[in-house]
Amino acid sequence: MMIDLHIHTARCGHAAGRPSEYVAAARQAGLEVIAFTDHLALPDGYDPDGEYAMRPGELAEYVADVRKSAATGGPPRVLLGIEADWVPPYRAQTARAIAAYPFDVVLGSVHFLGDWAFDDPRLIDEWSLRDVAGAWDEYFEVFTQAASSGLFDVMAHPDLVKKFGHVPPGDLISLYDDVAAAMADAGVAVEVSSAGLRKPCREIYPSDDLLAAFRRAGVPVTTASDAHTPEEVGSGLGEVRAAVARAGYESIVYFEAREMREVPL
Ligand SMILES: [Zn+2]
Ligand SMILES: [Zn+2]
Repeated sequence: MMIDLHIHTARCGHAAGRPSEYVAAARQAGLEVIAFTDHLALPDGYDPDGEYAMRPGELAEYVADVRKSAATGGPPRVLLGIEADWVPPYRAQTARAIAAYPFDVVLGSVHFLGDWAFDDPRLIDEWSLRDVAGAWDEYFEVFTQAASSGLFDVMAHPDLVKKFGHVPPGDLISLYDDVAAAMADAGVAVEVSSAGLRKPCREIYPSDDLLAAFRRAGVPVTTASDAHTPEEVGSGLGEVRAAVARAGYESIVYFEAREMREVPL
């Protein structure tokens, strides 16, 4: 089934286009199910320029916008989603925002190590001050914590830490198996995203090795573009679906009222 479970709109401050434009592009691309997943507002101080996420007061308007698109019938079927950052001190605040609306799907993501937005190109210099292996360990520790928090249905861009091409040397398989086992224990699904193909790492999130570890652990997967313009909806989905098939998956999942639905790839 052609699914794109991760789509942004202009509301998040760093994407372009209205929901109706994304829906039209998705129809054109032959997608059957899409989810809007704009960024939930971040805690005070984490988004000083308003470029990472919607404003705290915008959630109701965002929900109304997506519902309007969903009401047009489709195809594609339009789901109400949200991408929520895992910022540990703000767990309760995040949980409250998620509980306030009847979301179909909640994506969990890690864009911060402490207060460093490690995937922001403007903050890339910080990478030269860091030990790459240390940053990876920290990232996957936080990512695993997020998955186990009970807040999220799907963990987004699982190896986002490689975005600019910083990858530690050596064998990563045992790290990947530990991450996959934690996802399986947490009962979350993981996203296979084409976004990395458009970034300096030029690789799907997750890598083939990490995806293989998810498969070994029996972690369900969904497919996504992380589109930030209408033209990006469904982009790279062919490569994503090929990677999913190569890893041995025959089915993928999406969520409806936060219930997992398994469908043939
Ligand atoms: Zn993200
Ligand atoms: Zn996103």
